[in-house]
Amino acid sequence: MTEPKKIPQKLQMLQAVKGMNDILPPESARWEWLEAKMRSVLQRYGYQNVRTPIVEPTALFVRGIGEVTDIVEKEMYAFEDRADKHGQAEHLALRPEMTAGVVRAMIEHSYLRDSGRRLYYFGPMFRREKPQKGRYRQFHQMGVEALGFAGPDVDAEVILMGSRLLRELGLGPEHVRLELNCLGAPAERRAHREALVAHLEAHKALLDEDSQRRMYSNPLRVLDTKNPALQDMANAAPKLLDFLGEESLAHFNGVRAILDAAGIAYTLNPRLVRGLDYYNLTVFEWVTDKLGSQGTVCGGGRYDGLIEQLGGKPTPAVGFGMGLERMLLLLEEVGVAPEAPTPQAYAVVPSSEGLPQVMVALEQLRAAGVSVVLHPGQSSMKSQFKKADASGARYALVFGADELARGEVAIKPLRDAAALQVSRPLAAVADWAAELLRA
Ligand code: ATP
Ligand code: MG
Repeated sequence: MTEPKKIPQKLQMLQAVKGMNDILPPESARWEWLEAKMRSVLQRYGYQNVRTPIVEPTALFVRGIGEVTDIVEKEMYAFEDRADKHGQAEHLALRPEMTAGVVRAMIEHSYLRDSGRRLYYFGPMFRREKPQKGRYRQFHQMGVEALGFAGPDVDAEVILMGSRLLRELGLGPEHVRLELNCLGAPAERRAHREALVAHLEAHKALLDEDSQRRMYSNPLRVLDTKNPALQDMANAAPKLLDFLGEESLAHFNGVRAILDAAGIAYTLNPRLVRGLDYYNLTVFEWVTDKLGSQGTVCGGGRYDGLIEQLGGKPTPAVGFGMGLERMLLLLEEVGVAPEAPTPQAYAVVPSSEGLPQVMVALEQLRAAGVSVVLHPGQSSMKSQFKKADASGARYALVFGADELARGEVAIKPLRDAAALQVSRPLAAVADWAAELLRA
């Protein structure tokens, strides 16, 4: 590879790429907490984990997400790989979302032949957007995809699951609201499209450049505009809901009946179309007012046409993606703070003399399930106890020369002034380790 002639300033200072964040302690502990909470809910619904590559053929996203979308037109990190010995170079892209990749994997490995699949994923996604709070160039999603299920039951299931996720994280209707729409079937969308194009043509002078360009190629997306000057025009546009036939309405009402029975409140938003082309029937978003224009924390819906579009057998599917950065920002905003994980014990080691014996005892404690942090290197007792205290540990384990000579360790409670220091034999750690685990 040829080196660039002038080393860019960025490289000299070794900074992360703009819009791509390091996630460091203690912040990373909040991520682990969030992910563990989410996994626990996902498993209760019988969803299974999938992991697909971060890099995929560019064509997968062009075909899957749609050519006339912000993501494919402007936001995708696409590049040409180095040529092979025949001079052929692959067109590759960093995934901007994961549904297309999951569908590709399911088709490629014939995973949809016998029965449906309920899947979930966590991972980084990449979009070249203007970085701001809640909007990054590398961001993370948790998502679910239920493939092979046509009925409204599974649409409702993924919405109920989203609701439970939010609830268990401490977020209720006062923090996030559910918006719902039905995009119908392709024929209904065509009929609506005709009426919509006529409406847009009547207001052509008003439209901004983006909207004019999309008026014919993707008129539904014009309604998704964030331009304040276009809101009245968009509100007055013909509504897809009015073009739905019996079957679509029955599906939509089926979803609504389940949500109503489960006590999940929602608002119907006829302008909700989502930023990707593959959706049909049910679409939904969980939205908050607390994150400005980055208010969508979760979006999803049904995409019955995508699997066939990507070369598989026609298979119905529904799913959603949840932005983890936005979830964490929202949790912070509303004051939900997980407890920082702390070790149960901190090992104070005054001299290096008995170190092998100490390290072996610590290994036995860890084998018994105790989390214990070793004070590294040598320093004064005073500074070791200061560190022990700062670690948040419940106990200091003091491996003094006297204790070691007796084959013991002193256990000093750090959080309970009334509790007494005791000694325990090193040879029988397993017999008393449970004392340390009792928090
Ligand atoms: P927006 O309208 O805010 O751009 P979107 O419709 O493009 O969102 P989706 O493609 O539906 O978003 O992705 C699902 C979720 O992923 C979003 O609801 C959001 O929480 C999160 N997300 C999307 N893009 C970003 C980004 N650039 N930075 C951080 N989170 C994002
Ligand atoms: Mg977007």
